[in-house]
Amino acid sequence: MKRIHQIGTLALVIACVSVAATAWAAEKKAKHPKPYPLEVCVVSDEKLGSMGEPFVIERDGQQVKFCCKGCQKDFDKDPKKYLAKIEEAAKKVKKYPAKTCIVSGEPLEADSPASIYKGQEFKFCCTNCQRKFDREPAKFATKLPKS
Ligand SMILES: [Zn+2]
Ligand SMILES: [Zn+2]
Repeated sequence: MKRIHQIGTLALVIACVSVAATAWAAEKKAKHPKPYPLEVCVVSDEKLGSMGEPFVIERDGQQVKFCCKGCQKDFDKDPKKYLAKIEEAAKKVKKYPAKTCIVSGEPLEADSPASIYKGQEFKFCCTNCQRKFDREPAKFATKLPKS
């Protein structure tokens, strides 16, 4: 009996370790989402902010913004089409030219969070700085070094 019990415990331990390893791997893989490159709702082409706060989601590591919650329903009908539209727009975005955070001036990591404002990419040392930027992008955008 004792032996069976031990095997059972061992199996449980292995199961726990593999669950933890999977969770760890998922966390390691999770990067910052790719910033949304458009100034308009991907579904309605309505200017973002014109109908109140944009509705923001994340899909396959891509941030997606809508003018309203209702537009997400249309997005979900054909996400591939809309994600392709976002990808197309992202190609035209100007790369961030500096190696330091636009908000704090601290060095950037290899995988730094990014935002896009008026077709220009901005990078941050941390999500705190990103939040500050997203609140008043116009203020920080003027600090952009000339490339
Ligand atoms: Zn909408
Ligand atoms: Zn920071």
